[in-house]
Amino acid sequence: KTPQIGSRTRTRAIMEKYGIHTKKSFGQNFLTDLNVLKRIVDAGEITKADNVIEIGPGIGALTEQLAQAAGEVLALEIDQDLIPVLNEVLKPYPNVKVLNQDVLAANLPALIQEQFTDPTKPVKVVANLPYYITSPILMNLLKVPVKWAAICVMMQKEVAQRLAAQPGTKQYGALTLAIEYQMTATIAFNVSRHAFVPSPNVDSAIVVLKPRKEPLPVQPFDQQKLFGFIRGCFAHRRKSLWNNLQSVIGKQADVKEKMQTILDQAGISPQIRPERLTLDQFIDLANRLHAAAL
Ligand code: SAM
Repeated sequence: KTPQIGSRTRTRAIMEKYGIHTKKSFGQNFLTDLNVLKRIVDAGEITKADNVIEIGPGIGALTEQLAQAAGEVLALEIDQDLIPVLNEVLKPYPNVKVLNQDVLAANLPALIQEQFTDPTKPVKVVANLPYYITSPILMNLLKVPVKWAAICVMMQKEVAQRLAAQPGTKQYGALTLAIEYQMTATIAFNVSRHAFVPSPNVDSAIVVLKPRKEPLPVQPFDQQKLFGFIRGCFAHRRKSLWNNLQSVIGKQADVKEKMQTILDQAGISPQIRPERLTLDQFIDLANRLHAAAL
């Protein structure tokens, strides 16, 4: 019986047979730990009722595990050299399709409609992400008009901690809030650098994003402006909210007076650090400033 793709022996054999040298430029670190691969599929709670999009299948280690658990798998790989390899090693799995695509350029809603037999099934994203573009990929997934049933992805541990951070911690910031706006983030488990070939210089973690259960209590007047405002408030994270607001909005006496009133009304102390504000408070504050034409 052929060992599974994610085993060290099979990975080595595939790389030798096809003359594959991993490419740093594409963030290629292949997982060679079957236990980790299975735990990723478990963390995503993947069942036959799910359609799965995999970003960056590499030589198919995670794809194979997904194929066994999911209804259908659509795998998007940017490296054209890997496409013939994937087509060959994944031949035993008729429920897998591999496309040579850059996920950042792909039209995901259209692919879901065109590539899955039943596009109405829940769609989950599962991936061992290329680390150099983790944030752009996540931001893009959250921007497209698709209601993801779950996003279960491996990333650098430090980024994972920022996604799942609580207010008042140094990991908490604009990225945390951009995710929280739509999803709830939890770290499922950490993964040692030694689970990969080649080993990256950092440790990793699996993050599971699920749709928010509760809608936001207050909607922002403008989503894009809200996040511009939030980034501005975190520009000097060691300074007070008051100092940051002056850089974002203005230092003139009349502006400061209005800002002071608004903070009072919102029940927010000007002296707190931005990292103490919750998403709801940022939205409330941005709305009040907007209403006061600031
Ligand atoms: N899934 C495999 C595994 O777990 O062993 C490979 C993971 S490796 C960390 C990241 C994969 O993403 C590589 O195969 C790389 O070529 C691919 N990749 C990098 N940038 C991509 C992009 N923009 N779109 C699609 N795939 C990309």
